[in-house]
Amino acid sequence: MWFSKSKTQKSPVTSITLNTVTGPITIDVRKNKRAKKLILRMDTKSGLPVVTIPDGAKQTQVKEFLTNHIDWITDQTNIFKNSSLQTGDVICFEGQEHRLEYSNTPPRKVWFANDNQDRTIIVGGPIDQAGKRLERWLRKTASEKLTCASSYYAETLGVNYSRISIGDMKTRWGSCSSKGTLRFNWRLIMAPPDILEYVAAHEVCHLLEMNHSDRFWAHVQSCRPEYQKERAWLRSSGQSLMTIRL
Ligand SMILES: [Zn+2]
Repeated sequence: MWFSKSKTQKSPVTSITLNTVTGPITIDVRKNKRAKKLILRMDTKSGLPVVTIPDGAKQTQVKEFLTNHIDWITDQTNIFKNSSLQTGDVICFEGQEHRLEYSNTPPRKVWFANDNQDRTIIVGGPIDQAGKRLERWLRKTASEKLTCASSYYAETLGVNYSRISIGDMKTRWGSCSSKGTLRFNWRLIMAPPDILEYVAAHEVCHLLEMNHSDRFWAHVQSCRPEYQKERAWLRSSGQSLMTIRL
């Protein structure tokens, strides 16, 4: 177990690596002035355990705390690792289920192999990078579709956006900044096309109304007459897309 300064991220002050029976596990250590005690949790994005510590906490105290919770840390980390999609799992692409195949052979690209019964997405290239390769491809595809949809609605409404960016926000499907930047979650590519269209229309409508007033929803309705259903889909089924790990 040792402490090391984290150079790349701002908030974790340090990290600690614990040697466990299943190998080393790195834990982010974050100082929080308002914390009254040590708090251990999993970061759902990175899959790494995070310990929040009060300002004056001593290194030995943190080490002891983590050592006492080593079973929890090991279990949670393994659950996270094993929950990423693997060959044979099903992934939705534009709302349709596809079987996932990590081929572990060249070429390093992603393609569809659709026969009558089985829709398959094949990810070529080394299997250890397959999840990342697939995510890059999904992001690129999402970006293309969202750009196309946003341009369409911007033209329909007679507005201009400045640029589009694609991210992986924890709880949001899209946003629109006062500077006219539209930001979308790449996970929309897994949802049915109507849902992606709705989110694009929603954010473009914010270029006219930076709020959720009746006027705003009237613009949305003019673009997406069925928007109530599309919103309902996001509320009921959207969360499952947020938690998929590749
Ligand atoms: Zn909104």
